[in-house]
Amino acid sequence: MSLIDALNEESAARKGPPCSLIAILAALDAADRAALVAAFNSTQPSTSISRALLTVNVRVAPTTLSRHRRGECSCG
Ligand SMILES: [Zn+2]
Repeated sequence: MSLIDALNEESAARKGPPCSLIAILAALDAADRAALVAAFNSTQPSTSISRALLTVNVRVAPTTLSRHRRGECSCG
């Protein structure tokens, strides 16, 4: 398989269901959304962000957060 084929396959494989972070970010108000995006771009551990989100009744697995932060999710 050529690199081009491999890259195309990877790109196709990534088109899964939309990442749950999209809906969560859309539901937050502007200030909370900005704070969450800032946290994604900081060195704050995903487990810590996940716990913080739980306090406002948003349940997201740290692995989901990590995938989103690395741009490996479907919305990346
Ligand atoms: Zn995502």
